Amino acid sequence: MKSVILIAAPAAGKGTEAALLKQQYNMPHISTGDMLREKAQEDSELGRDINNKISNGMFVSDELIIEILKQRIEQEDCNNGYILDGFPRNVAQAQAYQQMLEELGKDLGVVIVLDIDKNVAASRVAGRISCPDCKEVYNTNNEEMKPKTEGICDKCGAELVKRADDNEETYMERYNTYMEKTSPLIDFYEKQGVVYHVDGSNDREETHKQVVKILGE
Ligand code: AMP
Repeated sequence: MKSVILIAAPAAGKGTEAALLKQQYNMPHISTGDMLREKAQEDSELGRDINNKISNGMFVSDELIIEILKQRIEQEDCNNGYILDGFPRNVAQAQAYQQMLEELGKDLGVVIVLDIDKNVAASRVAGRISCPDCKEVYNTNNEEMKPKTEGICDKCGAELVKRADDNEETYMERYNTYMEKTSPLIDFYEKQGVVYHVDGSNDREETHKQVVKILGE
């Protein structure tokens, strides 16, 4: 199976779609945001610096994220493809990634862009909660995505949490950063003929159906 890079504005459903792809194709889901949130809990200067950047909707340094990513995709479970959620985030990261793939003898795979209106994505942020353990994502503003028991993960029973950067002010910051730094990646990859667009404003089942149509059963 080819690797998949998901590109979309924050809260457009990258994490949710990546989890469905993981289930369907049995490929690792690599969320750089989840990896960083874990590191942010470490009681160290690096942990505090990452925490501060995430809480303010800022990117961590390209050097750090590239190092973290390289270590992850070198692991054996990534040999037959993986799903990238949150990386690359700018053209410099995409260029470094290209070089990394060449060195490791891996293919780029396909790029799926989840298109979504800013206001629809912002309304999803308001109700988004997630599981700190198994990373399942829920939304209290959407009947289909509510947990069965309020505040508890259906899958593993852990207490659900709200991300520190899921508030209106930080969301606008993250959205603007996406438009300025990440959306140019679509052009970058379109030149390589590997981009597919999917409407991310649909519910998760419909979005997933569209993605599977592209990737094949
Ligand atoms: P996400 O869970 O993908 O929304 O990421 C949450 C936050 O982690 C982002 O707002 C950034 O602060 C940081 N982050 C995640 N991925 C990257 C990346 N590839 N480059 C820089 N910062 C990142």
